[in-house]
Amino acid sequence: MALTSLLVSLALLGSIANGASTSRRATCPDGKNSAKNLECCALFPVLEDIQTNMFADSGCADAAHTALRVAFHDALGFSTTDASKGTGADGSIFIFGETELQYDMNIGISDAFNMEAPFAARSNISVADFIQFAATISLTKCAGVAQPPFFFGRVDATSPAADNTVPEPFQSSTDILARMADAGLTAADTVALLASHSVAGADNIDPDAAGLPFDSTPSLFDTQFFVESLLNGTFPGPNEGQTSSPIQGELRLQSDFEIAHDPVTACLWQANVNNQQAMAQAFQQAFLKMGILGQNVSKLVDCSDVIPAPPALTAYQTQAFFPPGLDINDVQQSCESATFPNLPTLPGAAETLAQMTADPLTVGPCQSDGTDCVLPPA
Ligand code: CA
Ligand code: CA
Repeated sequence: MALTSLLVSLALLGSIANGASTSRRATCPDGKNSAKNLECCALFPVLEDIQTNMFADSGCADAAHTALRVAFHDALGFSTTDASKGTGADGSIFIFGETELQYDMNIGISDAFNMEAPFAARSNISVADFIQFAATISLTKCAGVAQPPFFFGRVDATSPAADNTVPEPFQSSTDILARMADAGLTAADTVALLASHSVAGADNIDPDAAGLPFDSTPSLFDTQFFVESLLNGTFPGPNEGQTSSPIQGELRLQSDFEIAHDPVTACLWQANVNNQQAMAQAFQQAFLKMGILGQNVSKLVDCSDVIPAPPALTAYQTQAFFPPGLDINDVQQSCESATFPNLPTLPGAAETLAQMTADPLTVGPCQSDGTDCVLPPA
């Protein structure tokens, strides 16, 4: 899809969303739920199932992070210039799990397969929709997320995506931005999407470092990731794809460091610091754009009213800070056109971050080399 047509399509989605917001809700056949578009009624049983049995009461933790991550890996199997790369947000990463999960770029996605495949199989919606729907619901577990829209009606893949479509942590920022542009996502979109690293951690990049968060607040969708990724690194990250981090127990991806300091993206990056509303809104729009890559958006239905409201951050949580012992002198600033915001330093001694605990549902038959990553028939 050419970029211009994608932009037109996004404008269409916007008009659909606005139009739907003024229409009345219809009662679903189940007699208890209602939606503005009756097609959306199919999502309520899926919502109930994943709320009860996938995310349970775990909040913004490993299950939510896992569901979010796979949505990126499925959607990015797409190119605006080469149809052989894949058909985007199409469920291919599960449907062709035995192929796609062999790719190095998808190491760790077996966790998502193990967690989600049984739910996807019994959902009665397309695998493509299931992956993006579960990711959208996962976002509502994280305080600070702007209300995520959801568009429904994706068509499932008939072939696997190509390898090397998802950027890897050891790639240069130039290569990463080029790959994202080829997928239809701008440098601004890329920075916006990296806000997801505010609620994420290392997943198999380092066998000894599983569960290391990318910022000190991995259960809050706040701007701390953009602060901490700009601080001098003092704790080594010796493995490929890592650089030193400013807090013990925190893992910094080399790719995040590079994009934070690339002249193309440095000011976009810094602009998110202590700017919660702008960060959350930019992510909301970029995530919507990513989640429909490869799909015919004129066939999608606005089911945003099915999505629960995410919790808000408290005023205290909204305020970005320097970690204990650090201040403006520890900032490695690369944006030359704007001063770094004035932030308070958190009181207390330097901390060691707790490792994140893997969700039990992420353990199952699917192996990290793609073996037994077969989605059972619906
Ligand atoms: Ca895909
Ligand atoms: Ca965070």
